[in-house]
Amino acid sequence: MLEYIGYKKVPKTKSDVENVVLKLKELIDIFLELTKSEKFQFKLPESALSIFSKEQTANKSSHHFDKEKSNDQIFEEAKEYAKNEFEQLQLLQSVNEEFTDAKKLADKIQELAAKDDGDEMITVNSKQYKRSNYLMVLIKKQRGYQCQFCDVKIRKANGDLYVEACHIEPKKSKGKDKPDNILVLCPNHHKLFDYGKRENELFKNGTYSVKLNEEMFSVNLFWL
Ligand SMILES: [Zn+2]
Repeated sequence: MLEYIGYKKVPKTKSDVENVVLKLKELIDIFLELTKSEKFQFKLPESALSIFSKEQTANKSSHHFDKEKSNDQIFEEAKEYAKNEFEQLQLLQSVNEEFTDAKKLADKIQELAAKDDGDEMITVNSKQYKRSNYLMVLIKKQRGYQCQFCDVKIRKANGDLYVEACHIEPKKSKGKDKPDNILVLCPNHHKLFDYGKRENELFKNGTYSVKLNEEMFSVNLFWL
């Protein structure tokens, strides 16, 4: 994501993160200006539009195409996103060093998942992080930092693996930060899950199956 906005190095300090956030805001402003200009014809593909309108009618998805969203709201969301990404980057190193034992990792995931949901802070290596960000990194490690739908592994220039945590029930609909609500996916499958036609969802014996745009997927959510 950082590369998309021209940020080549991994942010290490608070001011690095602030620079990323400023750059994001700049991009959002440019985008908003462009969508207003007559020269720029912003068009979504027909299929995407039909998904958005269906979702808005159903009023249940976290991915509304919300024209009412203000610049400040978009900025706040981008800032929150950048902050969470940064926390997870910081946590990655300590997680890789500390949890070399699968049983210890599984126990820690259970311990964190058993706590009530919320944005409470926890201390890792004497620094404060959001519990949910720590848990996401642990779940990604447990599932091998690879897509649970296609097994793809994306290697970054610094050697780390890149993968995304996807909420089955979105956070905005009170979906929980718990292993049984999280899929670890590559960016393509994350978007397929969020925007595709989702049918036949089934949880059975720790396995979650779903049909997305006519293709079946089945994954283990527990790994214990
Ligand atoms: Zn994938």
